[in-house]
Amino acid sequence: MRVGIGYDVHALLDNTGLILGGVDIPHTQGLKGHSDGDALTHAIIDAVLGAASLGDIGGQFPSSNALYKNARSLDLLKTVVSKLHDKGWRVGNVDATIVAQRPTLAGYTSQMAINLASAMGVKTSQINVKATTTDGLGFAGMEEGLAAYAIALLEEQQ
Ligand SMILES: [Zn+2]
Repeated sequence: MRVGIGYDVHALLDNTGLILGGVDIPHTQGLKGHSDGDALTHAIIDAVLGAASLGDIGGQFPSSNALYKNARSLDLLKTVVSKLHDKGWRVGNVDATIVAQRPTLAGYTSQMAINLASAMGVKTSQINVKATTTDGLGFAGMEEGLAAYAIALLEEQQ
């Protein structure tokens, strides 16, 4: 078994879509990014890549490559998981935490887990997504940006 950690931050901007775990969330602000800015999915991609010693999301999908402009992050995750399978790994479980002051995300985390599990080809019960605030402190609390943490366990395929 192998573990990996992922962390991602995107700036919050007015008049941009907020997509987390592939869920479109109604909000006054969204995430700046070369792709869809899905910080949760990016953190998970980094966690699984880390566990497999495959570098990071920037190395796999360089932002200099126009192919990845406005890319759907769930599609990037699907690509990464198929690389893991090629290397003999399968996803055991993923746990993630989104750090955002607003909006309240509790009502969306189940759908995020469903989307992420589907992209990874695992059961929804293998994916856990949580959300927390920082009590108004720091960049997340000031709503300048949003962060996501993820940890992934990979198992060797039998
Ligand atoms: Zn990102």
